[in-house]
Amino acid sequence: MELFKTIAVNMCRLAVAPVLIFSGFVKAVDPLGTQYKIQDYLEALSMGGIVPDWITLAASISISALEFCLGIFLLFAIRRRFTSKLICLFIAVMTIITIWIFIADPVADCGCFGDAVKLSNGMTLAKNLVLLACSAVVAWFPLRMKRAISKSNQWIVINYTIVFILFSSAYSLYKLPMFDFRPYHIGSDIPKSMEIPKEAPQPEFETTFIMEKNGVRKEFTLDNYPDSTWTFIDSKTVQTKTGYVPPIHDFSIQEIGGNDKTNEILGHRGYTFLLISPYLEHADDSNFGDIDQIYEYAQDFGYPFYYLTASSQKAIKNWQDITGAKYKFFNTDATTLKTIIRSNPGLLLLKDGVVIRKWSHNDLPDTGILNKPLAETEIGKMPDDSIPGKVVKIFLWFILPLLLLTIADRLWAWSRWLKGKEHSNKIYKLIKNRKKMRKKIVAGNWKMNLNLQEGVALTTEINNALKGDKPNCDVVICTPFIHLASVANVLDQNVVALGAENCADKEKGAYTGEVSAEMVKSTGAKYVILGHSERRQYYNETPEVLKEKVLLALKNGLKVIFCIGETLEEREANKQNEVVKAELEGSVFNLSAEEFENIVIAYEPIWAIGTGKTATSDQAEEIHAFVRSAIAEKYGKEVAEETTILYGGSCKASNAPELFAKPDIDGGLIGGASLKAADFKGIIDAWKK
Ligand code: PEP
Repeated sequence: MELFKTIAVNMCRLAVAPVLIFSGFVKAVDPLGTQYKIQDYLEALSMGGIVPDWITLAASISISALEFCLGIFLLFAIRRRFTSKLICLFIAVMTIITIWIFIADPVADCGCFGDAVKLSNGMTLAKNLVLLACSAVVAWFPLRMKRAISKSNQWIVINYTIVFILFSSAYSLYKLPMFDFRPYHIGSDIPKSMEIPKEAPQPEFETTFIMEKNGVRKEFTLDNYPDSTWTFIDSKTVQTKTGYVPPIHDFSIQEIGGNDKTNEILGHRGYTFLLISPYLEHADDSNFGDIDQIYEYAQDFGYPFYYLTASSQKAIKNWQDITGAKYKFFNTDATTLKTIIRSNPGLLLLKDGVVIRKWSHNDLPDTGILNKPLAETEIGKMPDDSIPGKVVKIFLWFILPLLLLTIADRLWAWSRWLKGKEHSNKIYKLIKNRKKMRKKIVAGNWKMNLNLQEGVALTTEINNALKGDKPNCDVVICTPFIHLASVANVLDQNVVALGAENCADKEKGAYTGEVSAEMVKSTGAKYVILGHSERRQYYNETPEVLKEKVLLALKNGLKVIFCIGETLEEREANKQNEVVKAELEGSVFNLSAEEFENIVIAYEPIWAIGTGKTATSDQAEEIHAFVRSAIAEKYGKEVAEETTILYGGSCKASNAPELFAKPDIDGGLIGGASLKAADFKGIIDAWKK
């Protein structure tokens, strides 16, 4: 049910948005046409002369822009609640208007799609009812709309859309409509568009006759016309079928107070200039200098030049007085003239009755080029601004930038979604990000360096440095026994944990000089290093002894950093895997899986310890992966994935990032470089890179 609702809302949204975008756009690119339509509505409401032209023009531009913007916002699901409610309200108002025009028929065409698509009033009403239903569904569940752009980038689409549509309107107003859907568009053959083909359907009429006989009145048609005993009273004729109406059916050119010159003017072979002004009273007279020059040019080269207007003789006389116009005036219906060109005045160039050029008075042809016959000039030929070419321009200027923005935004949103998944999805974490599951540790091993005061001072320095700049990993410092209690006093163990470098293989008793795991623990230490190669080598710690130490450490609640690693000879003999596996088996693989969770392995190739020679990151990764597989074999994959395996052996701030970047290296056990706070911190910071 939920899925059904979401699908329904988004389908309704995708039905409404394109209609609003298209209808808003075709009206916006013909602001004068839309203004004329608004004036028609006002006329029907008997408010024709009341509302000033600038208000109807402003209304034309704002309504079209609003419609277009709402369509785009709906498509992108921008401000979903507000947009959907406003659209619903907008369509509801339009529906009321269409109910009125359906019933009262005050205008022949609603003008919903400008001149691009003409609908009958009935079809308009049906369309609006469907749109109203769809927009109501969307407004009911606005949050079910899937966003096409994230909230943070919506402002780009909002502003770009508003600027684009207002610019398109302003451009079309200053020049001429970007797209000309009227029958007088460039390329239109006017005389041909006025013809009614012989085979075209003719209009049909029916006449009813009202007759009377002996005081009784009855209606008859031609089919049952009665005999002469009936007396004729009246007749009514109604059109029962509209015949073919040619695209241009209301264009006539009359001499002022005289004859019809339509055929003569439109039938002229060659070029004809038609200057057009529906009403001279409202015409812009700022460019009459250029118009005069074009007129003179037409005179010089023998091209007819006529001024068509619906204005009265008085207005014509007035215009002539202002501009000194010498051209001939003719009368044509104002609506026809408004349809021919959206500019007052506007100039039309016909060739053999075909419209080849149209100019707004703001954009008249450059008079400088008018010094040779039209056939030899650019303006004497049809321009090549085809509709597909204009559509491509709109695609490049508007659709493509929004498309690229949407793609970039979706990729960004997708990567954030993946990141979110990383944090929330346990399985995903396990598969994709195993390394993040286990502890990352950088542990220092001071060995037999630093006296107590030096040790406490170093601890304070490390402690302060890490408190001010929180590490991205766990940090441990392992100190000689003598330092433990004092260091524990100055260390903030929430930031740096404390560890010992060794502990006894006996629980307690008469073992002079030894320090037990329990004693270590009692200082506040949490870790102990066991199995270090130096202890194996110099103090003969055997796997068996280490096994005891490990057990006692764990028994006393210490975590063990258990060191393993091969000698140079063993590596050269390619025995490193064998050696480390034997070390694990000898001292820690006796533990239960639960106990093993407290073991941190430190792989330290003996040939790299304190020698300045580091295993390459690939060498280290290879053996770390082997150690992990050995643990997996013993305890299972899950335990292995959770075991921290450190690398040790001349690890420094300079090589730590490369080593730590390896999937199976979870940090380092640091000897020499842990004796200086800055060096040690440099290694810790490798986890931030
Ligand atoms: C160590 O002793 O654990 C060690 C890794 O030493 P160094 O970092 O000095 O090689």
